[in-house]
Amino acid sequence: MDNLALYKLSYGLYVLSTTLDDKPFGCIINTAFQITSKPPQIAVSCNRDNFTHDKIVDSKTFAISVLAEDTPPEIFGTFGYQSGRDIDKFAEHEYILGEALSLPIFPNIAVATFECKLVKKMEVGTHTIFIGEVVDCDISRPDADEMTYRYYHEVRNGVAPKNAPTYIEKESANESWECSVCGYVYDEDHPPFEELGDDWVCPVCGATKDLFNKK
Ligand code: FE
Repeated sequence: MDNLALYKLSYGLYVLSTTLDDKPFGCIINTAFQITSKPPQIAVSCNRDNFTHDKIVDSKTFAISVLAEDTPPEIFGTFGYQSGRDIDKFAEHEYILGEALSLPIFPNIAVATFECKLVKKMEVGTHTIFIGEVVDCDISRPDADEMTYRYYHEVRNGVAPKNAPTYIEKESANESWECSVCGYVYDEDHPPFEELGDDWVCPVCGATKDLFNKK
């Protein structure tokens, strides 16, 4: 069995978010797809360990911001590789509350946004599939392209977080430096790590150089 076959399935990248008790919660997912058009319903897959997961169960709402190819790496660093249990993910990122359900969305970054009411959930091992009816959606940046998972891997050198359904553990190269935030590995194909300027940041998550560890 060749697990790399799983990379041949197409995905995008999204901030999945909700609001509970007037507090915003969110995480990055790579699985969101339309199920029906009448009414418009969307399914998302979310790891049950994610803080956002439990908040969606309680709020019975979720929003999706479809990330663009030019999404700043800090969005991945905050929403993809950190937990809302530890930090306020929304403190340093600009967002608005949607008009329909007052859910936190990112029209300045995303190409499109959706607000959904939860209509069904299905627990599947490590993940829950949430199905929501779209109550509002908009194209926020008509000239931007949505980021595909392939683009994230190949152009942005993105690495799947351990909670992603597509996460595959892999061997690391020798003499490499690993980002302690997102797992990005800086290897010997690049100029030596020690020679990088102090203003260099992780291309995936925006972490500073001191957050890298030698492997
Ligand atoms: Fe990183």
